[in-house]
Amino acid sequence: MTTDPCDGCGREVRIAGGIGDFWNSDRSATGGMTLELADGTEHFLCSDCIDALPDDREVRAEDVATLEERSD
Ligand SMILES: [Zn+2]
Repeated sequence: MTTDPCDGCGREVRIAGGIGDFWNSDRSATGGMTLELADGTEHFLCSDCIDALPDDREVRAEDVATLEERSD
């Protein structure tokens, strides 16, 4: 198990060791995942930030920047 900082809130997030772990564990255990956004950028986000992203339209890098503003 290792950690990466979330691109949204900056929190250290536990990530699974490999793709096998990813598919065999639920998202709450993993804590985050890398998303490729509609504008082609990739961001590693914790599950809280993923939940906070808009789900009624395509997500862009500016939405991730907005998540950062929401954090403490
Ligand atoms: Zn986050």
